[in-house]
Amino acid sequence: ALSTHVNEQNKRRRQVLNEFLDLKGNIRVFCRVKPLGKDEKVRPPVSSDTSNVIIKLTETNRKAYSFDRVFEPDSSQDDVYIEIEPVIKSVIYGYNACIFAYGQTGTGKTFTMEGLPGSLGIVPRAIQGLFKQVEESNHKFRITFSMLEIYMGNLRDLLIKSQATKLKDPIPPSLSINTNEKGEINIDHLVNTEVSDFDEVFKLYKLGCRNRATASTNSNSVSSRSHCMIRVSITCLGASERRRETNKIWLVDLGGSERVLKTRATGRRFDEGKAINLSLSALGDVINSLQHKNVHIPYRNSKLTQVLKDSLGQDSKTLMLVHISPKEDDLCETICSLNFATRAKNIHLGQDESKE
Ligand code: ADP
Repeated sequence: ALSTHVNEQNKRRRQVLNEFLDLKGNIRVFCRVKPLGKDEKVRPPVSSDTSNVIIKLTETNRKAYSFDRVFEPDSSQDDVYIEIEPVIKSVIYGYNACIFAYGQTGTGKTFTMEGLPGSLGIVPRAIQGLFKQVEESNHKFRITFSMLEIYMGNLRDLLIKSQATKLKDPIPPSLSINTNEKGEINIDHLVNTEVSDFDEVFKLYKLGCRNRATASTNSNSVSSRSHCMIRVSITCLGASERRRETNKIWLVDLGGSERVLKTRATGRRFDEGKAINLSLSALGDVINSLQHKNVHIPYRNSKLTQVLKDSLGQDSKTLMLVHISPKEDDLCETICSLNFATRAKNIHLGQDESKE
């Protein structure tokens, strides 16, 4: 049974890569439904198959949302990685890429991106995958790693060793974002460390996580207060035929999308939530403008979209992984997330194809 499973996985891997190489649009939207907890036995109002999420609004009224791929509650980390692997490979083929985890706090964004020991998520698998690709390639590559967060509209470098600032302290001077003559985005003074194997990356990643957590007054809520962004840059040494010398992939665990007015948060927590909501809607606007091929893309409306300007749109590969809870209590937030995801989806692909 195990060998059949491995064969099936390999078959799916090849299929996904072929689909990816044929892909017309550059933005794909996947949805992952969190499994119910052991004590949550009631029939949830959310059901799914591999490409649809169905919401039971009333006994007779159901609404279906379709996506490029839906990961059902019993899907494994393997199932997810197989589908996103081509995006990781695209960086070696000369593209910039960006993978986002979006959703309400507690729906599994960190589980998908980081994973647990023995159940690794996208970030460790992607980095292992990149090193493997580099090893197998005929070219020489230089790989660098950076990690930052966006908190209250400011960029904080997570790889500064002595970073002892608390989030409640006055905000340290924000890193500034510049565009060079080639249209590439640079973040001034951001630590960008050369890495040669997975262990080196893992140490930096742990440092970044510690810096993120120590800055928080409540580590449980750290991921709902800020966006955590990892950048892996790959420079092909001595390959002049490539379109760009350096390509990068951003792996982004977005702050919780719950609407701040509904959470009844007050004070600083309210401001944090408001900042997250604003930047998520700016991200939605940028993706939507890209899908509609608008002339003006509103990158400037948030730090998040400014940082990602050269990795979103044009010939970059973007993947949005929207996370939802199947629970009755979360239904409002689930519908909001599904609506956001639908707006981000490539709704015009059909039209574009008919024009060609
Ligand atoms: P978020 O980052 O969206 O706030 P987490 O990733 O922290 O959410 O998930 C909340 C909890 O649910 C964690 O304990 C996590 O391990 C668990 N969890 C989330 N998704 C899954 C899943 N698909 N399978 C098993 N456990 C999950």
